[in-house]
Amino acid sequence: MAIRSYISVDDFATEEFLQLFTHTAEIKKNLAMNRAAYLDKLCGILGGMMFYEPSTRTSGSFEKAVKRLGGQLYDFNIAASSVAKGESVLDTACMVAGGTEFLIVRHPQQGIGRQIANVINIPVINAGEGTGEHPTQALLDMYTIWERFNKTQVRIGLMGDLLHGRTCHSLIKLGARLGAHFFCIAPIALQMPKEYIAYAESLGCIVSAHETAEEVAGELDVLYITRLQKERLPQALRSQYEIEGSPYNVTPALLAHMPVESIVMHPLPRVDELSVECDTDPRAWYFKQAENGIYTRMALIQHLLSL
Ligand code: ASP
Repeated sequence: MAIRSYISVDDFATEEFLQLFTHTAEIKKNLAMNRAAYLDKLCGILGGMMFYEPSTRTSGSFEKAVKRLGGQLYDFNIAASSVAKGESVLDTACMVAGGTEFLIVRHPQQGIGRQIANVINIPVINAGEGTGEHPTQALLDMYTIWERFNKTQVRIGLMGDLLHGRTCHSLIKLGARLGAHFFCIAPIALQMPKEYIAYAESLGCIVSAHETAEEVAGELDVLYITRLQKERLPQALRSQYEIEGSPYNVTPALLAHMPVESIVMHPLPRVDELSVECDTDPRAWYFKQAENGIYTRMALIQHLLSL
C-alpha cells in the first residue's frame, strides 16, 4: 500500500476529512467513558518527533495522542544533538525516522516536509512549517467548527497576522474546501497572501478583506484570532509593533457585537490580542479547540497507519 503523509491539507480528499471528523467525535465520546478504550491501537508502534521550533500544544497533543493509543514516541532533542555540528535536516530526519513507524516534523523551512517524505519510507506529518502550512491545526480547527455547528459551511473571521500565520493559511484552504466563507481581518501589511485567497476563490469561497473586526462582527459564526508572529516579522514592522503593541485586542466589547451562537477561536499561544476577560464568555472555545487537538491527532495517526 502507498505510504501516505500529511504535509498539506491538499494531501487528503474532502471525504477523508469528513471521515476524520466522525472518527474524532467517536474517539472523544468513547474516551470520556473509558480512558483505556484505544490503548491497543498503537501497541508496539513507535513514532519519531523532531521539532526545530518551540511548541506547547502541538508537541504535547501528539504525545498525549500517541500515549492514549498505547504507542510510544521518541522525541528527538535537537538542542543536545549533532544538529549543532552541522548535520543536515534530511540526514537528521533519516536518523530520527530509523526504526520508527511515523515521523512528526516542525521546521522553519517551507517545503522541508515534502523533501523529508521523499527520502524516508514512513508517513510524515507536518506539525508546522515556517510561514507555510500547519495542516494538523486546520484539522482540529475545522473539527471544532463541525462539532459546534454540525456543519462546516460557516462564516469565519480570520484576524491578526494573516501574512505569516501558518494556521490561517491551512485553515482558509481547508475551510474553502468544506464550504466556509472568510473575512480576512488584518492591517494591510499583514493581509492574507494572494495565493491562498486565489486558492479559496477558485473553489467558490467568498473572501473579503477588512482592517477592523467591528465591520463584520455581527455576521460571524467564528472569530479566529491569531497573535502577531513577531519572530517572523521584518525588522521595520517588528520595531513598529514593539512601540505600538499588537494591532488588535479582542475584548468583551467586541464580543458584544457578535451573534450569541457564534464562537471565538485561537490557535494559541495568545499574547496581547485576546483579553483574558473573554475567557468566561460561553463563546470562548479556544481551550476546547486546543483539547480537540488530542482527539483529531489520534484519528489522524490511525488514518495514516491504516489502523
Ligand atoms: N501555535 C501555532 C503555530 O505554531 C500558532 C502560533 O504560534 O501563533 O503556528
